[in-house]
Parts: sequence; C-alpha cells; structure tokens
Amino acid sequence: MILITDGDEARMRLHEEIAAARSILPFTGAGISTDAGIPDFRSPGSLWTVNKPIPFAAFVAEPAVRIEGWRRKFAMDDSFAGAQPTSAHHVMTNWVREGRARAVITQNIDGLHQAAGLSEEDVIELHGNTTYARCLQCRKRHELGPIRAYFQQHSTPPDCMECGGVLKSATISFGQAMPQSALTRAGELAKRCDLCLVVGSSLVVYPAAAIPLVARDAGARLVIINREKTALDEEADLVLRTEIAACFPPHFP
Ligand SMILES: [Zn+2]
Repeated sequence: MILITDGDEARMRLHEEIAAARSILPFTGAGISTDAGIPDFRSPGSLWTVNKPIPFAAFVAEPAVRIEGWRRKFAMDDSFAGAQPTSAHHVMTNWVREGRARAVITQNIDGLHQAAGLSEEDVIELHGNTTYARCLQCRKRHELGPIRAYFQQHSTPPDCMECGGVLKSATISFGQAMPQSALTRAGELAKRCDLCLVVGSSLVVYPAAAIPLVARDAGARLVIINREKTALDEEADLVLRTEIAACFPPHFP
C-alpha cells in the first residue's frame, strides 16, 4: 500500500490511475456528499446521532412510529435542502457518459449522482434513496411533495392510494435487508473493472464494504480517497488521504 497525504501529489497520482484504467468502478460514500453540503450522519451532533434509528419492524407495525419517522425525515430534508453535486460527482458522470465506467456504486441516499446527470440505471444505490418514497406492499414509487402536504394537513402520513399499503422513504432502514439486486449487480461490476476507486467512504458498513475487495480479488487496482483512515487501507494499492475536492478540481480532465 502506498499512502499519499499531500493534495497536489494525490491529484497527480489519481490522474495517472485514471489514465491507465480501461474500466473504472467508482464507489462513493458520505465524504463526497459532505462536500456538497450534506452532513455526515455518523458525525457527532447530527440529526442521525441525536435520535436513535427507527427499526424497520417498528415502522411497519406502529402508526405512531411511522409519524415520528416521517417527522424526522422531513426535518432531515430541510437540513440539506439546496445541496448541489460537487465536481467529483460531475467527473464520475463524465466517465459513465464516455463509457469509461459502467455505473457508480454509492452508499449515499441523497440522489446527488442523479442530480449530476446520471440516470437511475447508472447509479447502484446500496442503501436506497431518500428523495422519493415507495409503498412497502405494491412497491409503487411516490413523490415526497404530496406526502408532505398530506402530513402537514393531517399530522399523519397517507397510505398508498393504489393498494392502501404503508409508505416509506425509499432508503434502507436499520433492520431492513439490503436490496439484493443492487448488491448482485455491484458484485458483477466489481469483477469486471480494472480500477475500483473508493471516494469518501470509511468502508466499515458491510456487506457494501466487501465490494472493493471483490474487485481487488478479481485483479483490479484498488485506490481509496478519504480524509480519514479506512478499514481497507491495508488492502489497497494506493491510499490518497486528502480532501476529495483536492483530487477533483473543477477542471478535472
Ligand atoms: Zn401500494
């Protein structure tokens, strides 16, 4: 493992890795979104650590828990309204458009890769998406605006108008299984890339964190960009321990 902590050198090293790669697999986490103005949910004092997470089973079973869940969700939305994709998001969009990356894998739920121009199919969301909701019964997608308007009027969330099922934001909650199709597709892409580029993840949440190891074990180079140490630094070929913004300036080639 080679460790680089100087921002300028990190940027040069990253350019070399990108230039040499034929198939890049970006894997992004909270760090790329904090640059966009979204608080890291694990940092002290954030909305997520002040409130204990709501277990999925309780959300499904108890109307009062659902009300609390939606109240918190709308408060969270307000706390990061106006977040915009960073140059790192835009660079990854270009890689997909140019065919240099097949898709972006993300642990983030904020939809910022789509906001940077990627289609739903181009983003593999391991922890779901907080920018819309789904019916837990019929899986129909519901937009948040009408749910919020109903909530403000009735102090309770609406049920699915198609089937009467429970609506929940499309994130993966504590105690809820990760989407198997997303994990499977991520694993397949990991086996076929020649550069797995981790950006802004501490790689501690499994099974998501196993994906870079799948890539490395299949022969890809593993490069990690993160401000702090990660759980897989020792496994990586190159660790750029710097600000993400230092590696992805707005004029990134
Ligand atoms: Zn439904």
